[in-house]
Amino acid sequence: MINIDGSAGEGGGQILRTSLGLSLITGKPFRIEKIRAGRKSPGLLRQHLTAVNAAAKIGNAEVTGASIGSQALTFKPGNINPGEYKFSIGTAGSTTLVLQTVLPPLMLASSPSSISFEGGTHNPFAPPFDFLSKAFLPLVAKIGPQVTVELIRSGFYPAGGGEIRVRIEPAKSLNRVELVSRGKIKRAEGYALVAKLPDKIAERELAIIKNRLGWESSALHIRRDDTALSPGNVVSIEIEHENVVEVFTGFGEKGIRAEAVAEQAVKEAEAYLNSDAIVGEHLADQLLLPMALAGGGSYITLPLSLHSTTNIGTIKKFMDIDIEVSQIRDKLFKISLNS
Ligand code: AMP
Repeated sequence: MINIDGSAGEGGGQILRTSLGLSLITGKPFRIEKIRAGRKSPGLLRQHLTAVNAAAKIGNAEVTGASIGSQALTFKPGNINPGEYKFSIGTAGSTTLVLQTVLPPLMLASSPSSISFEGGTHNPFAPPFDFLSKAFLPLVAKIGPQVTVELIRSGFYPAGGGEIRVRIEPAKSLNRVELVSRGKIKRAEGYALVAKLPDKIAERELAIIKNRLGWESSALHIRRDDTALSPGNVVSIEIEHENVVEVFTGFGEKGIRAEAVAEQAVKEAEAYLNSDAIVGEHLADQLLLPMALAGGGSYITLPLSLHSTTNIGTIKKFMDIDIEVSQIRDKLFKISLNS
């Protein structure tokens, strides 16, 4: 039984999600204590409980301690069952983070899976739908598994009710991918998504991108989605190079000015554009697991977040993999994984 300390490093839900996925893949049972001890409301929230139940369902696992608020659980994995599933969070909790839990085991399964996830689709502190579809999954496709994702309905805090549908085509063997050059720039665009909110908000956000990044109006777009159950607003800056697409996001919130929402995304995009990093902060922590499963890979990135260093620690609890972090120069690092 592997013992996991949920308060280690970043102390959030990723320790639990990585453990669930790797337990199913390696067949190693684990016990986690102090779940999300680093958060204001520790223990399992609906999103984490849905992730635990989804992992248990696809992997015929035996679980104790799977209830709201629980700060400890034991997970004994069984055989992975690819197929058709539907997982509803029941709140605005992040659908993409529940997907992050079941994707690694299902992308190595013996046959494809089709899954519908209901909940939030654009949540602060989680990968928004566009980051998932345009930045993360194309890199997973280079590693091998072909994963397509469709946004059926956007879901925002507090109502949730969004839906994404995912089709996972597993790969028989995974490729080592080296992300060491961006390649030529192909596209740079900004999007302001407004759901049940006036276009004026989106116009003010796009004006910030125009002024701060000096982009033409033709690269800036308003998106409307009035099918969402509650109002929502997200600013996405997409930067596509030959070898990688990055998506930087600002999340609208009641009481936060549109200009400040756009600034969040602009600041991240600027840091990336002014660096020689190939992948930004969020891709850096999310690529670790698929690359570890591929038996290796590498990428050049910005200084590692606590999410990345914590995820390295969790992966090493389950897998015998060498993960080397070396500094290239000021604010530029290379991560190399080798089994
Ligand atoms: P945790 O806080 O432990 O639940 O993990 C949150 C996950 O969401 C990490 O993998 C983060 O990299 C990811 N994440 C948070 N914000 C963003 C964002 N703006 N874009 C993409 N991924 C994000």
